[in-house]
Amino acid sequence: MILTVLGCDGSYPGPGGAGSGYLVECGPDVLWVDTGPGTLGALQTHRSLSDLTAVVITHEHPDHRSDIDGLAVAIRFGPFADHERIPVFAPAGVRESCYFAEWDVFDWRTVAGGDSRGLGQVRLSFSRTDHGPETLAVRLDGDGACIGYSADSGPGWSLAALGPDIDLAVCEATWPAEHEGNGGHMSGRQAGASAREAEVGELLLTHRAPWAPPDVVAAEAAAAFGRQVHQAMPGARYRVAERRAVPLTSPFESPAGRR
Ligand SMILES: [Zn+2]
Repeated sequence: MILTVLGCDGSYPGPGGAGSGYLVECGPDVLWVDTGPGTLGALQTHRSLSDLTAVVITHEHPDHRSDIDGLAVAIRFGPFADHERIPVFAPAGVRESCYFAEWDVFDWRTVAGGDSRGLGQVRLSFSRTDHGPETLAVRLDGDGACIGYSADSGPGWSLAALGPDIDLAVCEATWPAEHEGNGGHMSGRQAGASAREAEVGELLLTHRAPWAPPDVVAAEAAAAFGRQVHQAMPGARYRVAERRAVPLTSPFESPAGRR
């Protein structure tokens, strides 16, 4: 299973950045997980939109959702008009928050915490987090590997709620520890503690606020996790396998690059 960071800025895109979005590739299964602003464009530097087999949207906040409307336009009017309706897994309320919600271009599938769905070779399992609107963390199991993605959450939820044996946790770490208590989000320290509690293989920090100092957030996360952490960057790719996430620094090392 390969994870590509499309965008990773917390709550709004910083200069040249993008909101939350990830590409997960597992054999023939190509998933766009969170459709934040700027991630539709980034997605197309890695895969054709016609390759998409599913979309997952964790909650209705615009920094995780807004580009789904761009995909709706591409499917309805673009070169993919004959594409089958793409399944979109999302909690209640997400569809209604989309501008083109009434267009018949997606196969909307409402999910809730505790739900599990099979999709090709991938199994999706959802857990409701500690955030504003209904927000679902998602566990993706496929090809013997597991990714656990926190979506947005405050410290009232833990990665452990996604179950054991997570090889790579992609966890929000919005700000330094001095901002803990602002609500709805975790600091790097809290993300590290959550990853340690869940005994994950490796930790990728994401959703950092554009104003937050990256080195401070990462250092506090590593201290709490007890090991090195990765910091999400747009375009970063990881091959996820047993207890490991190997960075794929060159596109020529990745399956997408060999196509
Ligand atoms: Zn949010």
